[in-house]
Amino acid sequence: LLLLFFSCNTTKKSESKVEIATSFDAKVDSLMSLMTLQEKIGQTVMYSGGWTVTGPVISSHNKKYIKEGNVGAMLNVYSVKGTRDLQKMAIEETRLGIPLLFGYDVIHGFKTIFPINLGLAASWDLEDIEKGSRIAAEEASAVGIHWTFAPMVDIGRDPRWGRISEGAGEDVYLGSEIAKAYVKGFQGDDLSKHNTIIACAKHFVGYGAAQAGRDYHTVNMGEDELRNVYLPPFKATVDAGVETFMTAFNELNGVPATGNRFIFRDVLRDEWGFNGFVVTDYTAINELVPHGFAKNEKEATKIAMDAGIDMDMMSDANRLYLEELVNEGQVDVALINDACRRILLTKYKLGLFEDPYRYCNEQREKEVIYKPEFLEAARKSAAMSSVLLKNEDKALPLDNNQTIALIGPLAKDKENIIGNWAAAGDRKDKAISVYQGIKEYVNETKITYAKGCEIEGDDDSGFRAAIKAAKNADKILMVLGEDYDMSGEAASRTNIKLPGRQTDLIKAIRQAVPNKKITLVLMNGRPLDLSEEVALTDAILETWYPGTSGGLGIADVLFGSYNPSGKLPVTFPRTLGQVPIYYNMKNTGRPIPPNNPKEDYKSNYLDVPNTPLFPFGHGLSYTNFEYSDFKLSANTLGFSDTLTAYATITNTGDYDGYEVVQLYVHDKVGSITRPVKELKGFKKVFLKKGESHTVSFDLTVEDLKFYNNEIFTVEPGEFEIAIEGSSDFDFEHIFTLE
Ligand code: BGC
Repeated sequence: LLLLFFSCNTTKKSESKVEIATSFDAKVDSLMSLMTLQEKIGQTVMYSGGWTVTGPVISSHNKKYIKEGNVGAMLNVYSVKGTRDLQKMAIEETRLGIPLLFGYDVIHGFKTIFPINLGLAASWDLEDIEKGSRIAAEEASAVGIHWTFAPMVDIGRDPRWGRISEGAGEDVYLGSEIAKAYVKGFQGDDLSKHNTIIACAKHFVGYGAAQAGRDYHTVNMGEDELRNVYLPPFKATVDAGVETFMTAFNELNGVPATGNRFIFRDVLRDEWGFNGFVVTDYTAINELVPHGFAKNEKEATKIAMDAGIDMDMMSDANRLYLEELVNEGQVDVALINDACRRILLTKYKLGLFEDPYRYCNEQREKEVIYKPEFLEAARKSAAMSSVLLKNEDKALPLDNNQTIALIGPLAKDKENIIGNWAAAGDRKDKAISVYQGIKEYVNETKITYAKGCEIEGDDDSGFRAAIKAAKNADKILMVLGEDYDMSGEAASRTNIKLPGRQTDLIKAIRQAVPNKKITLVLMNGRPLDLSEEVALTDAILETWYPGTSGGLGIADVLFGSYNPSGKLPVTFPRTLGQVPIYYNMKNTGRPIPPNNPKEDYKSNYLDVPNTPLFPFGHGLSYTNFEYSDFKLSANTLGFSDTLTAYATITNTGDYDGYEVVQLYVHDKVGSITRPVKELKGFKKVFLKKGESHTVSFDLTVEDLKFYNNEIFTVEPGEFEIAIEGSSDFDFEHIFTLE
């Protein structure tokens, strides 16, 4: 049998895609004709390698199930020995020798860790994001991983929610473009190549809209918001050929995602034509019980199968109950055949039946992991992800002849700097701290370091040394933020200020040296309330968690060898009380004065303005970019035409640099109300000082479509349009759709 399945799989590279698919189908058919119901169910089961302090372990239970043919996939096994040993077991000790699929959370790098995903989004650099995911795939596949549980494409508009750090921020268009870049990077152009891994769009759907930013919490939204905001990034991954989807933990309008037929069968399969497979999130089938949606785990198993779920991650529900449910006539065996077929097809596409180990071995691992060019790419990504929020009186870049007081709990940190979801990454030895990074630019003797305080806690005994360092230095560089585990899964906060005594530390230093320039470098996994910090400092550089080479990338920006070009992918509020706040909101219908004579009744707060502290799309450069000569190719757009918008961007400052040029439109009147602004395009352009460039964007009706509570459509009428450097502007130009 073994021979049969391995030898029959000699797909010639010259065959067309259709023929390959047909031949894979035929192979799956013949394999499935030999499988028992129990073995088919086995393909739909995934177990975790489990964890100890020294890394993943495989329980004897898991080994037993694998040998019995009851397991189709494993997660959290991420060493060459681990994957090879288990694969050998599956190939040599099971009746049919079907290879296992190894999945792992390769979220922003595998070994070489890139900035966290919210940071990567701030680069607005699709090429760089694709390249980073390609590198992650190279490294992960070298140890036998076939599948990453990424990208997370959940729109995040609530900074309390810890997992806002794992996504691309608040915007539909930016989020969709980034989603595609990840899928292309991970999956490459040919899944059968051993250096590709399959991607997983997660968490379907609405996870980021959890009430009050509490992780896993209730989600309730109308179909207009679901289809216009939360679904498009997922649709984008399907268009990019994503191989798998993951369910969300949350309920959506009363129906938990893992039991939600509407989103999996009606939308994902029937409307979008997705033909990969769907995995649950961790133990999500069982959680239908505490959701109050199933009376017991057996019923939950039936509900999930009916809803269109193919693989059970860690609920141990399919193994325990599916066969019984089929025998009792409660689950249609055709559903199990479908699920098993999809999973096997993916295994064929990955080439696992040709080489179940996909050439992974220690030699390859050694050659691939932490390649110098990977570390260099991570350094560049860290620089490109940094967002210069504020830069008063040219506080930055720093001058390497001056002395620096380097202050703060994250200044020498090598632990937090690589962020969350980086378990395979090396926090201690490989990561490069800000201190190490700036030593590349300034002689060590010119740097005085003082920790000042911890990230959390109440201790201010380190303030005195920090003040002394500040008094004796020309410039003050403070590196502050959150612990890496204050964002990510199950890490929501009700307070989005800098934790502990850090803001007090800035105050104490500001008071001691009122006339010296203070630069604040931030590492954090969410938009923070920086109202106090903005008033106390001269420059603020948001670096998120910048990854393995983070200290170098940050130093490149601080000393001007990389001119910052990052732009916020998410709004920074003035205060938590404004949340949710995002740029493409709806109008309230009660315009603010002067149009509204009854000023008392405008939609405002008594204590803060409606505007954010830093808007979506904001990010400064060491140079200035001027926008001029906005022009449209026509004043009207016909249903089958293309309209081109132009603007000239001129670098009027003293540095060469990149600018992220953004295209926004506003559909003025609709059969359902439309957002006040919508990003519809962006381009990153490089301009030498003094140089000008005309940037153009093409628009068709496809770009203007929205879901009007019945269908996706576009409606004739007036649209406002602008090309700008952030979302903070007033429209001045109009075109008409006829
Ligand atoms: C998370 C997923 C992740 C999975 C496997 C879950 O708790 O929600 O995003 O992929 O665990 O580690």
